[in-house]
Amino acid sequence: MLKKLFLSTAVSLLLNACATSPTGRSQFIYMPDNQVDQMGLQAFSSMKSKNPISGNQRYSQFAQCVAYAITQQTGGQWEVVVFEDESLNAFALPGNKIGVHTGLINLVDNQDQLAAVIGHEIGHVLSRHSNERLSQETAVSTGLAMVQAVTQPQTALGQTALGLLGVGAQYGVILPYSRIHETEADTIGLDLMAKAGFDPRQSVNLWLKMDKAAQGGQPIEFMSTHPSHASRIDNLNQNMSRAVQLQQQAWGGGRQPRCSK
Ligand SMILES: [Zn+2]
Repeated sequence: MLKKLFLSTAVSLLLNACATSPTGRSQFIYMPDNQVDQMGLQAFSSMKSKNPISGNQRYSQFAQCVAYAITQQTGGQWEVVVFEDESLNAFALPGNKIGVHTGLINLVDNQDQLAAVIGHEIGHVLSRHSNERLSQETAVSTGLAMVQAVTQPQTALGQTALGLLGVGAQYGVILPYSRIHETEADTIGLDLMAKAGFDPRQSVNLWLKMDKAAQGGQPIEFMSTHPSHASRIDNLNQNMSRAVQLQQQAWGGGRQPRCSK
């Protein structure tokens, strides 16, 4: 009886598996969004309990200020936490959670560069990339089991779940986003930062800075989950004139953020 029930749930999930991303790409997605949000909330709360949160008020206000300007464009309440961690990283999780490492804040030259990273991360969430990765890389039964497993990062299934959410690196599991997902997050992130009134041209500077830091041998968690593709900067430049217009419109509309660290 239970097996039948499970099977019919699985079949109905699969029948509803076609979706479209914000850039118009068709996606295979079967996990219920509320379950994936639940995974994000769980992962974030365990990160907060296990990793030191920065006591630097200026850093925290800086990250909040940048994230707030961007999330005004997406809607929803987002929680932003700065973690005391020298590695260059930031992440956003389903369920509207954003984490930024102090190492990344040290790296950026200005608010616009931090906005480029946060916009990119939110781009992954808005495009439901975690859900798509779970749907592509697991069976329905495993996907649903992962909702529970995310509370147990010491297990193999829990680690895979965190990896697919994009935050497995600190648990030893690195599952990089695909090139398609990276490009999509770049495109959405660029629009978002520009609509918030940040200078979109700083996104290119940020990625060049990241590459340089990686070549210098700095531990860069971010680059392991968000691989750098030669086409990243080309793609950003192709979308730049539109993004600059969006920024001018934002300024015209009084959206001119002033966040400083
Ligand atoms: Zn990415």
